[in-house]
Parts: sequence; C-alpha cells; structure tokens
Amino acid sequence: MQIAEFDIELKRKNIRNMRLTIKVDGTIHLSVPLLVSQAKAEQFALSKLDWLRHASARMQALREQCRSTVLPGLSRAEAEAFMRTTEARAEEWRRRMQAQQVTWRWRRMKRAWGVCSYAHTPPVITLNKRLAFLPPELTELVIVHELSHLFHRNHSPRFHEHVRRYLPDERQREQQLKTYTPVLRAGDT
Ligand SMILES: [Zn+2]
Repeated sequence: MQIAEFDIELKRKNIRNMRLTIKVDGTIHLSVPLLVSQAKAEQFALSKLDWLRHASARMQALREQCRSTVLPGLSRAEAEAFMRTTEARAEEWRRRMQAQQVTWRWRRMKRAWGVCSYAHTPPVITLNKRLAFLPPELTELVIVHELSHLFHRNHSPRFHEHVRRYLPDERQREQQLKTYTPVLRAGDT
C-alpha cells in the first residue's frame, strides 16, 4: 500500500493494535488486527507520516554511515593475537566473577558483539571478531556483560546490578558501545 512517498507492506495478524515498523534497510511494515479495514489501516499510516519521514531519514543516515565506515586492515596474525589475549583476559574476568566454566568461541557477527548460549554444557560465549576494532574498555564491557548472563539470563535490573558490581560505569560504556554499531556491518553494503 502506498502512503505519500512510502511503500508499506500490510500484514494482517492476530494482534490487538496496529503497529508500524521500519527496518534498517528501509522496508516498512504495518501490522494490523485481522478485522481492520484497508481504509482504517491507511488512515493510521497517514497519521504516522511525520514519524515515518523522521525514521526513514534516520535509517538512511545509518546505512550511509555503515557504508562509509572503513575498517583498518588486520593481518591474520594480528587477529589471532587479539583473540588469544582477549580470551586470556576473559578467563581472568570469569575467575574473578566466580562464574562457571565456559567455552569461548569467535565469530564474525552482524548484530551482536557477544552472545551467551546456555544450550551447551559448559555454556558457550561467542565473541565477535570485530571487537578487535573497539577500545579495550568496550571489549571488557562485552565480556563482563556476557559472563553476567551466566547468573541472570535476562536484562533485568538485577542483571545490570551484577554488571555494575564489576564495571560501575556500565552505562557510559554502553552509550559508547552504541556509537560503534556501524562497525558491525561495515563493508557489507
Ligand atoms: Zn545481554
């Protein structure tokens, strides 16, 4: 469905309220309850036009930022040295936090700096190879964050309390980490 300059994909779902979402790639979805008419859906989308224009511009800016982020070259030896020393530091944190044994893995991920998976015994913490491009204090944040998930599986206030016991400036580091989001996808588009 076309609303002003936007092409919107309409989806009927078993939900209560209409919801408009926009992805980073610019695609827009409007989810509506099963019995809502096309006219009502259009009216709703039209009422959100200001928000749409704002969000669409923001997504475009984000895409451009990703494209223009140039990562310095890293030799294989440098990358391996980084992973070894980081893993050693992560093990130090694990002992200090008295967390259980984990298996450390490395991957290139596009959406996360780290992932903690409890489906395995011992649990697996996967770290993003692109941490090599971040300042050390942010890699430290990712390590402590993932290790804290061994104690709290969610992002509840108690989880963050746990992180802050070790990194009192967690909030500032989180803010700083957000500014590095384009590094996750740099070179992909
Ligand atoms: Zn988390």
